[in-house]
Amino acid sequence: MPKVIMNVKLLEMSQNAIALIYVACRQCYSKEFAGDVFSDTSISLEKQEEFVKNIVASGHQSPLEHVKFTFAIEGVSRALTHQLVRHRLASYCQQSQRYVKEKDFDYIIPPVIERNIAAKDEFSKLMATIQQSYTKLLTLMGQDNLCGEIANQDARFVLPQAAETKIVATMNCRELLHFFQHRCCARAQWEICQLANKMLEICAEKLPAVFADAGAKCEALGYCPEGEKFCCGKYPLKA
Ligand SMILES: Cc1cc2nc3c(=O)[nH]c(=O)nc-3n(C[C@H](O)[C@H](O)[C@H](O)COP(=O)(O)OP(=O)(O)OC[C@H]3O[C@@H](n4cnc5c(N)ncnc54)[C@H](O)[C@@H]3O)c2cc1C
Repeated sequence: MPKVIMNVKLLEMSQNAIALIYVACRQCYSKEFAGDVFSDTSISLEKQEEFVKNIVASGHQSPLEHVKFTFAIEGVSRALTHQLVRHRLASYCQQSQRYVKEKDFDYIIPPVIERNIAAKDEFSKLMATIQQSYTKLLTLMGQDNLCGEIANQDARFVLPQAAETKIVATMNCRELLHFFQHRCCARAQWEICQLANKMLEICAEKLPAVFADAGAKCEALGYCPEGEKFCCGKYPLKA
């Protein structure tokens, strides 16, 4: 099986993101109507960006909820997406194991296992055995004249968390900042940490006024809140 590579593609982000955050915030403090401020071209983009940076720095985060990013993600494990979808202030659509047959399924090999020849061999053998059992179950249930979807939905019970999957995820900027705080942390599981860092790279490029300083909690705090057991050493523990 060829190596599965994580792929993260930005499908879309809110248009006029800076102006949206700017007017949403201005509406809180101004007698003016946001509908008029939005089309007021006398306020330069640079000025709006400065304003947005200050909003982010002040922790006034609700204006950030008006701007969203949608990502297509592939080449990740079901173990990853199970963690991802725990983030509730987001929308997801994931490839179904009922409607999509997992014949010749791809799988993710954790790097530590990949680097250990004996462990990789054990892992790969198990994946091959699972593939065989899955296919056999489909055949057996097919013989009972059950329709494909029912066979798929029951045969998938033997599939591993390592199975490759694809998902579309939409989060607003506030949720993204929260997601990055938790999942860019070195304490987070390696695969979701990799995903979070790829998403952060995209967000920081597209919307630096919001994401230039985003990342794990410690980046903003200047210390590690995780405690001695989990601290990666990048920042000191809280005094
Ligand atoms: C390192 C690490 C280890 C973890 N280990 C485990 C584990 O062992 N077992 C496990 O079950 N989970 C584990 N998790 C998952 C974790 O508990 C959260 O479920 C997950 O990170 C989603 O976070 P969240 O609830 O803050 O975020 P979101 O769902 O993204 O919500 C964002 C924020 O909105 C607010 N919010 C959302 N929903 C509600 C609500 N219903 N009521 C009140 N406020 C709400 C909260 O302020 C929340 O922080 C782990 C996460 C990390 C990062």
